[in-house]
Amino acid sequence: MALIVTEGLTKDYPLGPHTVHALRGLTVEVERGEFVAVMGPSGSGKSTFMNLLGCLDSPTAGRYVLDGEDVAGLSRSELARIRNRKIGFVFQTYNLLPRTSALENVELPLIYAGLAAGARRTRARERLAAVGLEDRANHHPSQLSGGQQQRVAIARALVNDPAVLLADEPTGNLDTRTSVEILVLLQQLNRQGITIVLITHEPDIAEYASRVLTFRDGRLLRDEPVRSPRDAARARALLGEEAVA
Ligand code: ADP
Repeated sequence: MALIVTEGLTKDYPLGPHTVHALRGLTVEVERGEFVAVMGPSGSGKSTFMNLLGCLDSPTAGRYVLDGEDVAGLSRSELARIRNRKIGFVFQTYNLLPRTSALENVELPLIYAGLAAGARRTRARERLAAVGLEDRANHHPSQLSGGQQQRVAIARALVNDPAVLLADEPTGNLDTRTSVEILVLLQQLNRQGITIVLITHEPDIAEYASRVLTFRDGRLLRDEPVRSPRDAARARALLGEEAVA
């Protein structure tokens, strides 16, 4: 069975006397190991979709099965449990705790998961090393660049070995070069088998994924494979050459 299965996924928001139909019956499957970009103009339902996939909210109607578990009808506390175990979030604004070291930020989900202190430290150090920041473990977010903060956030998202990484505009606050660095990391993680769903409104960024879902007015307008996804490592090398020239 696919990792993510939605059938007729629907989300309505009451707005005064009206109803906003944010998602109008979305049926889609994401297999394990895919790197999927979700595109679409503002208001097309991307964030609503992400919130539902991430178990941050429940659908008004429809089915959502994550990693074999039927999620749509679960209570808030059950959703929180699934979120902690199965989902890694990466946001545009990093969402790191400010007066807390990079290492402690990465450890945080493990505290909720009830892991002992020594094991937490070890695991968090490993994940920081995996994003190339072992030498920044004791830095606070304000002592890190935007790209480094986002790498800490990615390490934190991965610390529980989630089934899927949900990234909402992860490069939205970053310049081109730093965005490419983050995409190098995401492509590496995907090659290691991590399933990624990345929300972006930038077609350039979506080309690094291997499949693009395009939303329009709460519906899936297109679902297309990317024939030859851009290679972020290559893009980084080209940017490097430009700088030298
Ligand atoms: P996108 O992420 O593509 O910009 P959203 O999922 O945020 O789109 O929004 C889809 C639609 O749902 C928009 O019309 C938006 O105004 C509406 N919407 C989103 N969240 C809420 C909410 N909490 N209450 C009312 N309307 C909402």
